[in-house]
Formats: sequence, C-alpha cells, structure tokens
Amino acid sequence: MSIFYKSDLIITNDGPPLREGIVELNEDGLIVSVFQDDSFHDFKYVEGVLIPGLVNAHCHLELSHLKGHIPAHTNGMAGFIDQIFSLRANTNDDACREAMIANDKAMYDEGIVAVGDISNSSITIDVKKESGIHYHTFVEVMGMSDALAESRFENGVQLLNRFVENDLSSVSLALHAPYSISKKLIQLVNTYLKSNSPSSIHINESDDELVFCKSKVGPLKEVFEKYKLPVQDFDNLTQETVLIDVVKELTNAAPLILVHNVKTDLAEIEKSNQLNANLYWCLCVQANEYITGQAPDLKIFNSDSLNVVVGTDSLASNTNLSVWEELKIISRLNNQIPFERLIKWATINGAKALQQNNKLGKIKPGYAPGLVQISNINFENPVITFDSFTRRIKI
Ligand SMILES: [Zn+2]
Repeated sequence: MSIFYKSDLIITNDGPPLREGIVELNEDGLIVSVFQDDSFHDFKYVEGVLIPGLVNAHCHLELSHLKGHIPAHTNGMAGFIDQIFSLRANTNDDACREAMIANDKAMYDEGIVAVGDISNSSITIDVKKESGIHYHTFVEVMGMSDALAESRFENGVQLLNRFVENDLSSVSLALHAPYSISKKLIQLVNTYLKSNSPSSIHINESDDELVFCKSKVGPLKEVFEKYKLPVQDFDNLTQETVLIDVVKELTNAAPLILVHNVKTDLAEIEKSNQLNANLYWCLCVQANEYITGQAPDLKIFNSDSLNVVVGTDSLASNTNLSVWEELKIISRLNNQIPFERLIKWATINGAKALQQNNKLGKIKPGYAPGLVQISNINFENPVITFDSFTRRIKI
C-alpha cells in the first residue's frame, strides 16, 4: 500500500525544487513516484520543506560519553588531545553504551540516515546492529613510528574483521591524522584499501598540526612527549603542503573524506582535486569552534564544483551530533551559501562519500532516502535560521 506526503516545498536533489509536490512511498520507504497534482487529495500534509535523509559524514559515536568532559577552548588542539588521552584511559563501558544509544536515537529522530563513524574499538558494534541508521565504520589506525606500523595495521584489520563478522560489512580502514601516522603505515593502509574504498583522515585542523608535521616542534610535540609517544621517529612532511603530501600517498582512497580543513586554502583544494577526483571536503564547524575557536574559510567551499560534506565530530568536542545544527552554524558564518547547496552538502554529497548514493540522498523513484521535514522555515524563500528544526517522517 502506498503512502502519499505533500509538502510546501520538496528538495529532491533530482531536478529543481518542487512547490506543493507529492511523494508516493511504499511500506518499506521506497519511493514509487514524485509528482505535482492539485486535484489529488489523498495525502498527509507536511508543513514546511521536505528533504531527503541527512548524512553525518564524520562522527565518533564511541566518544559519546565524553559530552561536557572537556571544556571548550582549552588551550587549542594540543590541549584538547592532552585531555582526550587522559580521559580515554578511564572509559566506563556502561556509561559509554548508554550515551551511544541515546545519541544514535537523537540522530535517527532528527532525520540522519547514514553516518561515517570513526572507531578505535568494537564497542559500537551492538548499537550499530540495532540502529535504523546506516553506519559506515572507518576503523582508525595510527602510530607515528615505522616500527609500530605492522602491528598497528594488523590490529586495525582484526578490528575491521570484527565488524564484518557482526554483519556490519560497510567498514574500511582510515588513518587518524598526518601528525599521528608514519610513512610505512600510510603505505600499508593504502595497499589494503585497493581501489575504490572509502577512507577518511583528519586534516588541516589547526596550526599546531601544521607546525608539528613540518618541523616536529610546538605544543603537539610537548603533548606527545608527555605521553611518551615516539616523536623522534616521526618523519616530517616536507614535500608540498601537509594535505597534498597525504593525498599523494593515499592514492587508493576513493572516496577520501578530508575532515576539518580549517587551514585548507584554495590552491591546495585545486591541486588535491587534480591528484584525486574523489575527494570529499568535510566541515565540522561546531567542533572547530569548540577546540580552537577558528573556522574554515567557507567562501572557498561555496561552489558546486566541490564535494562538500558535513560532520559533527564527537561529543568530546561538540554539544550535539546534529547535522542540522552544523548547517545553522555554517549559515551563520557565511550567509552567501545558497540553501539548496547546503542541503546538498548534508544529503546527497554525504551519501556519495559513503557510497550509498544508489539509494540515499535523492527523492527519486527507486530510492529509499528517508524523508525529513524542516519546520519553522520560510518555504517561499528558505534560509536556515536558528529557529528552524528537522524531524524524521516516520513511515
Ligand atoms: Zn574526528
């Protein structure tokens, strides 16, 4: 049996927006047809704007219990990493599970249908198995010394296999960040990815990162030495920029989600896109504000020729895992980004980055994208305001 929803405005990502359009779905949420017909009356009315399900391209569900544990603006990125190291040593598994379940539900209710989730352990497996959200797990590997590379890589593959054994086969390896990996580890991960495997890396998040990667000095070095990491073994990245050096090495990562980009500039974007045509530029503006108080140069990302996606990062550096809240901050930081482009970043682009764009991201027959209602919005001339909010249409 079909269900029909009519809305004031529908963003389909499959042609121009539809005024007073109607979406027909079957009981499984699969879209049967999309049409406009003033004489058709057998529908449920959805006030406001209807969009496909949201995609959170970068999250760490396993850190959900750390909400509020690290104050905002604590001595920049080095200070943040210092606190993460000390807090992670004392994880309470029950508190972590409870927080993950609550936040998975909050993401589901807001209309998030897919998440790119970084995992360092198997603790998220049970939540992901039960969730109505599609998770692509990026098993994270790190280790700044070549001597550690083999064992860190093997541990990563073992953890990846745990997800596969639990029927969570949407999983791949991801390097943590340029400051925490060795050249050998990059090569091992790249070889393992083969071609066309999604991967992810944190990049260009702060000056601390760039100073350490180029010259092995600065506040990050001090934190790493405090925790007795093998800083002396780290190979500086000295060819071009840190971002370009990494993109050059990770040739098999496609899509490759580049997370943060606070320090990314236009020349780097252009050069990187020439090296790898399947790059996704992930913005996590709330986390950036939380950790360093800085923001990416959003005007360089305001283009349909770039694959921009939206992530929340973790609750260690954010107050929520809401993609809609991220869009509000992006809009506040740069009000020149068109509404439809923002929706695209948070829906179809994320679906592509997680290789789910054959069923998610578009309101189109044959797709099952999930439907999301945006309320408190001027649907005649939509702008993302702080009063607006989203909810999943439960079929
Ligand atoms: Zn992250």
